[in-house]
Amino acid sequence: MNTRQKDETYIAGTYARFPLTLVSGHGSVVRDEEGKEYIDLGSGIAVNTFGVSDDEWVKAVCTQAATLQHTSNLFYAAPCADLAEMLCHRTGMKKVFFSNSGAEANECAIKAARKFGIETKGKDCSEIITLRNSFHGRTITTLAATGQDVFHWDFAPLTQGFRYVNVGDLATLRSMLEEGRTAAIMVEFVQGEGGVLPLPADFVEGVAALAAEFDVLLIADEVQTGNGRTGALYAYMNYGVQPDIVTTAKGLAGGLPLGATLLGERVQGVFTPGTHGSTFGGNPVACAGALSILSRLDDKLLSSVREKAEYIRTALEGAPGIVRVTGMGLMIGIETKADASKVIEKCRERGVIVMKAKNKVRLLPALNIPEELLRKAVGVIREVCAGLSL
Ligand SMILES: *Cc1c(COP(=O)(O)O)cnc(C)c1O
Repeated sequence: MNTRQKDETYIAGTYARFPLTLVSGHGSVVRDEEGKEYIDLGSGIAVNTFGVSDDEWVKAVCTQAATLQHTSNLFYAAPCADLAEMLCHRTGMKKVFFSNSGAEANECAIKAARKFGIETKGKDCSEIITLRNSFHGRTITTLAATGQDVFHWDFAPLTQGFRYVNVGDLATLRSMLEEGRTAAIMVEFVQGEGGVLPLPADFVEGVAALAAEFDVLLIADEVQTGNGRTGALYAYMNYGVQPDIVTTAKGLAGGLPLGATLLGERVQGVFTPGTHGSTFGGNPVACAGALSILSRLDDKLLSSVREKAEYIRTALEGAPGIVRVTGMGLMIGIETKADASKVIEKCRERGVIVMKAKNKVRLLPALNIPEELLRKAVGVIREVCAGLSL
């Protein structure tokens, strides 16, 4: 059996994979079994922050793996302490809890918010409000947090204590808060899986103002938007609001599983020994990878992300076959006249990997993608969209 047949025989059928087996790569170029090369505008869903097998990252990860690959959280270890310090210094947050995925980072945020709400405002004060069309993960609790019914089907009963409001509907949010049972409001500043939709700035301001007025926590799910993706270190920084809790994962360790829940001033003391934990969380190898990534997400890199984003937007907006371009930074959604799946397939045939979000073509290139490759890939997308809409 080849890899595809073996996968389809033995791996649970949760994924509709592209008909492509990737075997290697470097930077923003990946290779399939036949040695065909592709420009990768997906980065493993915003995970490979500096592309595939980035030299500096490989060195950091391999050095740590050859030194000490795991300690358990019964001991102190430098990589996770150093990473927590760096995250706090760069964000102003006070404490970090490390886990292994976005869903786990959100689970931790939800536990923190519930405990904080119950301890400071009473036992009925544990409700969390999220947005419709949001995506927060696949565990039973983060599914409950996810404001899309399609993810809920087949898995009832979900965790209780979540309610949803539409993006833009501050009046309903206010009336929910007036009931006095809310611990936190949780949002993605750019809804990723929901179709690459940035929240309107005035809505975000309104949410932050209501959170302050009703003394509830603001949780930013930056699992996808974090770590430079939107042109700021974290997307909330583009909006000028201060969340109480920030979760992140995907791009944090540049290709290794690592989740982080950042706790701000008000909630920094919420967890005490025994109240949360993770065997693998804060793994030294993953943290060494993250240190290599985060230390390079400086002002220069972030401004190059914004420039590349501007280039893509200008090149695609209004081009033949393209209806609309949405997103923020290098998190881009393209509404195409032709069916998005068809566009994705044609791009792949022509050596460019792009992905889907809802009915849109989604781009999540490596933050350091060379300009020349980016220009080439954007040219292919333009030609494919124009060709398919004739
Ligand atoms: C991907 C994603 C998650 C889930 O992350 P996993 O690592 O797959 O558990 C949660 N929230 C957002 C916004 C995401 O994009």
